Amino acid sequence: MSKQIITVIKGDGIGPSIVEAAIQVLDKVGCNFDYEYVDAGLTALEKTGELLPQATLDAIARNKITLKGPLTTPVGEGFTSINVTLRKKFNLYSNVRPVISFKGTKARYENIDIITIRENTEGMYSGHGQVVSADGLVAEATSIVTKEGAERIAVFAFETARREKRKKVTIVHKANILKSTSGLFLKTAREVATRYPDIEAQEMIVDNACMQLVMNPQQFDVIVTTNLFGDILSDLCAGLVGGLGMAPGANIGTDCAIFEAVHGSAPDIAGKNLANPSSVILASIQMLEYLGMQDKAEKIRSALADVIATGDRTTRDLGGSFGTTDFTAAVLERL
Ligand code: ATP
Ligand code: MG
Repeated sequence: MSKQIITVIKGDGIGPSIVEAAIQVLDKVGCNFDYEYVDAGLTALEKTGELLPQATLDAIARNKITLKGPLTTPVGEGFTSINVTLRKKFNLYSNVRPVISFKGTKARYENIDIITIRENTEGMYSGHGQVVSADGLVAEATSIVTKEGAERIAVFAFETARREKRKKVTIVHKANILKSTSGLFLKTAREVATRYPDIEAQEMIVDNACMQLVMNPQQFDVIVTTNLFGDILSDLCAGLVGGLGMAPGANIGTDCAIFEAVHGSAPDIAGKNLANPSSVILASIQMLEYLGMQDKAEKIRSALADVIATGDRTTRDLGGSFGTTDFTAAVLERL
């Protein structure tokens, strides 16, 4: 069998340090992947004058599987978000963001195990927005929801729930106010739910969902929602389990998949050896599961859990005193 090639984009800011950590971990458990390194974001802009060079797009398409660090999109005129561009270009319509409690973090809750499944190509991130008055004082943006888009993400969520032996899918919406867009999403998801009698379907308005997630997060299992709500709720969920350093995400389409951290390039801590590599290590675990390498995924998860449980061998955000490299070394040692 030929070796699996993984496209690797190290990314900007803390990206290279945490992606390197994840690759050391993958190699340590004997994954035996070949890596094709390509650039995107600021790193690419500096080298090639482009944020997303064609060679990078070609590698993503060719190898199908990408592990990616956070990318910085320069603020201001003419730059659309690189992440949004990638998701649209490769039709990565599902964004799967799991959070689980690890013992030893300084998180406020225990026993959390929630997967947020965010529609990744439509909604408020459709990209249509402009200032509409000559004086610049009025702006508008269009949110697009299609039945096809809502249906495929709902099917993805219920299929995920079934495969992972989950009990419940919560459909999060705001159909009482956003009657057309959120209304269509809810109606479609409701219809999909009837095809999965083995899984409980629950409906929840997004504001209530925020409160419920803070009051009683253990009631949630799988959440499925539109793009903007999913973006916000998944950061909220990350906060429940110890912060963005513990939050991975998979962008999955029919053909390609990109595995990444939920967070950005964290310029405030870049270059200081402070970043928590768990986000990308957890994203690698998602990647292994996607590739059917469950044993190796489980090995890494349990090593990471052991190191975090010991308390002081972790990064500052988790309450420890270790840097990125020493934390990673502790995980490698455990493996
Ligand atoms: P973006 O717009 O790209 O999402 P952002 O402004 O939300 O970026 P992030 O880069 O996501 O910012 O970081 C938010 C905060 O979380 C920062 O204070 C950052 O230092 C912290 N943070 C993010 N990732 C990590 C990590 N892996 N380890 C430790 N702290 C992190
Ligand atoms: Mg952010």
